[in-house]
Amino acid sequence: MTRTTNRIGEHAIVLGAGMGGLLAARVLADAYHRVTVIERDQLSESADNRRGVPQGRHVHALLPRGAEIMDELFPGILDELVAAGAPVIADFTKLRFLPDGLHRLSTRMKAPPVYQPSRPLLEASIRQRVRALPNVRVLDGHDVIGLTTDDARGRITSVQFQRRDDGDGAHAFSADLVVDAMGRGARASAWLTELGYDAPAEDEVVVNIRYVSRLLRLRPGAVPETLIVHGPEADSPYGYGLFAYENDTWLLTVQQFDGDRGVPDYEWMLDRVADKAPGHVVAALADAEPLADVVMHRFPANRRRRYDRLTRFPEGLLVFGDALCSFNPIYGQGMSVAAMEALALRKVLRRGSNRLAWRFFAKAAEVIDVAWQLAVGADLALPFIKGPRPLPVRLVNAYVAKVLTAAEHDPVVATQFLRVSAFLDKPPALMRPSIVARVITATQRARRVPAPVTPVAAPGRSAKLG
Ligand SMILES: Cc1cc2nc3c(=O)[nH]c(=O)nc-3n(C[C@H](O)[C@H](O)[C@H](O)COP(=O)(O)OP(=O)(O)OC[C@H]3O[C@@H](n4cnc5c(N)ncnc54)[C@H](O)[C@@H]3O)c2cc1C
Repeated sequence: MTRTTNRIGEHAIVLGAGMGGLLAARVLADAYHRVTVIERDQLSESADNRRGVPQGRHVHALLPRGAEIMDELFPGILDELVAAGAPVIADFTKLRFLPDGLHRLSTRMKAPPVYQPSRPLLEASIRQRVRALPNVRVLDGHDVIGLTTDDARGRITSVQFQRRDDGDGAHAFSADLVVDAMGRGARASAWLTELGYDAPAEDEVVVNIRYVSRLLRLRPGAVPETLIVHGPEADSPYGYGLFAYENDTWLLTVQQFDGDRGVPDYEWMLDRVADKAPGHVVAALADAEPLADVVMHRFPANRRRRYDRLTRFPEGLLVFGDALCSFNPIYGQGMSVAAMEALALRKVLRRGSNRLAWRFFAKAAEVIDVAWQLAVGADLALPFIKGPRPLPVRLVNAYVAKVLTAAEHDPVVATQFLRVSAFLDKPPALMRPSIVARVITATQRARRVPAPVTPVAAPGRSAKLG
């Protein structure tokens, strides 16, 4: 292994090899001599679904900013995904989502291509690249069970773990830095309390959404689009996404707010989709060949753990990805937010290890603020989501409703809306005077001439993609 002088520590350990853990490991590999990723699932070389990432069986959108960052961290990865069969959408007539005007205007929209790997393919490709890094070791099939500290409990010194299959007792690795990327169920918050620290406050907006999905093969040519998304609306708690994936497969996901407990069947899915989808999609789905059983996943709430607000925090520990903040998945943000957090981590690591956690949580909070505002703002535009709607939220949502109306007619507004939803531009881009002027003009025009075939007015403010 080549030792470079700019390394700031000997050993970093990442807990969890999901997208968050893998992206964190990539940037840590430039800053530490050795990086170990500990994952409880047994990981294969291929693009398989696995127990620790149940969401992998449901549609996963990779937003353009996330794709851009992944290609920066793993040069050529997007081309590799395409070579492995992932669709790439450069012709936006292949992409259909609400407001329907975006589809009609799509030939005139200017936006970067949309890469559409399935979650298992994306994760397997990134994992392969991480495993190929000379100073990274991925230790799969091992459960992380605890942390140890120095006597003063001011610094995390090692990670305890055990093999999943033979229970041969606990092992420990010492570490200069431990990154908890174990997802929504991550342990950092509980460990802090056990060590005598305060747990972080949690911001939460309950959505109680369930994802119901099935992998399908469609008759060739039956659906000319590559990505179709129609999100829930004020008068309908259902949405659906139909994504083309590798090997001529399609994944259909129906999303439902406040759904019943049982797993619905395919007939149920078709009934929900029939309420919203164009005729050719309904016909193609009715005629589809099922490739797997119907599966369901429940997602209770947007949850943000405010590590950035703690006043005491041990050295040698960070929290990353969904463990830090997880969002209503219908906006397709989680993996791209993890990618932006990876850039934030890289930036703070370049300035050494001093006060690392404080600097990282502050930088990550800048990323999360934007994503949270988009996701929670859009959720609160739906009348069946409970939660306070202070004046700023109501004003922003009223403006975004107008942006969406304008986007029905104006490709410049449509493109700007998409760029903000994809994290390519910050939300204030929608408030630029030139965009505001277009929104006003288009809204006045829409009052005089209703948009042609727009089926339902969209109340939300962020494109619903995942
Ligand atoms: C239904 C659904 C749909 C989604 N759709 C999208 C989408 O369209 N686009 C998007 O960008 N994001 C989407 N997301 C979010 C996205 O999946 C996550 O944000 C992203 O994977 C980052 O998660 P993570 O790596 O932080 O955590 P996770 O993906 O949860 O990974 C955590 C890892 O830690 C491991 N682990 C857990 N406990 C232990 C332990 N004790 N010891 C060792 N290992 C452990 C797990 O096995 C797992 O590998 C969706 C999420 C859901 C639930």
